[in-house]
Amino acid sequence: MNFSDSEIVSSILAEEGFITFSKMYDADLILLNTCSIRERAEMNIRKRLIEFQYIKKKKPSIIIGILGCMAERLKNVWLEEEKIVDLVVGPDAYRDLPMLISRIEDGKSSINVLLTKKETYADVNPVRLVHNITGFISVTRGCDNMCSFCVVPFTRGRERSRDPFTIVKECLNLWSQGYKEVTLLGQNVDSYLWFGGGMKKDFSKASPLQKATYLSFADLLELVARSAPKMRIRFSTSNPYDISINVIKVIDRYPNVCKNIHLPFQSGSTRVLELMNRRYSSEKYFSLIRKIRKIIPDCAISHDIIAGFCGEFEEDHRQTLSLMEYVRYDFGYMFIYSERTGTQASNSLFDDVPKEVKRRRLQEIIFLQKKHSAECMQAQIGKIQEVLIEGESRKSKMFWYGRTSQNAVVVFPKGFYNKGDFVKVRVKTTAAATLIGHCLEIV
Ligand code: SAH
Repeated sequence: MNFSDSEIVSSILAEEGFITFSKMYDADLILLNTCSIRERAEMNIRKRLIEFQYIKKKKPSIIIGILGCMAERLKNVWLEEEKIVDLVVGPDAYRDLPMLISRIEDGKSSINVLLTKKETYADVNPVRLVHNITGFISVTRGCDNMCSFCVVPFTRGRERSRDPFTIVKECLNLWSQGYKEVTLLGQNVDSYLWFGGGMKKDFSKASPLQKATYLSFADLLELVARSAPKMRIRFSTSNPYDISINVIKVIDRYPNVCKNIHLPFQSGSTRVLELMNRRYSSEKYFSLIRKIRKIIPDCAISHDIIAGFCGEFEEDHRQTLSLMEYVRYDFGYMFIYSERTGTQASNSLFDDVPKEVKRRRLQEIIFLQKKHSAECMQAQIGKIQEVLIEGESRKSKMFWYGRTSQNAVVVFPKGFYNKGDFVKVRVKTTAAATLIGHCLEIV
């Protein structure tokens, strides 16, 4: 999502004549787009800012700015107390960037961290920073879910859905530039809701005409899939609370919608899920998985898990492991819980799981996931998969790498094929997190 936001920022600045440089020393302005989701992300940004101080010493005229989620949280510390940045701009204020930069050039410090209920940057055609085969398109901004551990609603503001017309237009634009895959992005794509004639979050307050013409995420996904029938479509992230059967049916019905659902479950314990305010139980999650497997038997499913959330007992942790055993995920992102100031958990729950217990639980989760990922990959041996060639393998110039619809990475000898081709590959073996195969034909 930050990558996608940086492309929006580049577009806004390019309109004003700014250009990008590959070396930091050549630039007059460095913008760092930040994330606050976990403590580690924040620590990394602080390290980068210290690096930038050396550049600033050598080139005092350089402007250093912070964008994104940390802007709101750390504006006072970095701009006023430590004075290590000149510019602080929150995720809804990027249109103001040219004006804010000119204020600094006039010798004033600059800040805008206001969050709005409307900004979707729908009309901004993002400048793609790296020309690729795959691109991102934001379909919603912000989040209203209020999971107790999560800082997103506070740093990115209220949830809003983007005009579907601009989404399709951006998708077709990417296709005409040679892109072959898009990922529709949102904190919770399933709560996408668009009413003809304007945005309105509350369905009950919509007019009869609006109710008759609204677009859900399933409708949007179908619209994009039909508008760009040769383009691969992915999306992220789905919330088990509100992913609908219609979305699962659209994935099944359209061959260009990838057979892969990222479905974070966070914890296998209903008690912990309640503390997290996730609004689903582990039983509901199980039943959702069964429905997905029934409708799309070959659908890959991936997850996010938090280890060591407030009040998590050993028994809760065991339930997480047993849920993993039941689902046997293809892939997962796994984290240790880190308290975020301002969240419900930080205000009203006690971060009581000792660090070493959190670490050990995370290790057990990672160990199990590695085992399941390896099993899922082994099951691919001998199968023929359609792969989109995304680029050269990092390990050998003689090999391409690409991904299957299920998002598995496949490496195979280049032959006469090109980047951007859809090809049929027979999987021969596996190595670490990669499938190895040979290419049979172009699709
Ligand atoms: N909107 C998505 C989550 C996006 S954030 C959803 O609701 O599923 C990506 C992941 O970061 C989350 O799924 C969660 O596993 C992790 N995460 C968020 N806040 C966290 C925190 N305070 N500590 C540890 N992990 C966290």
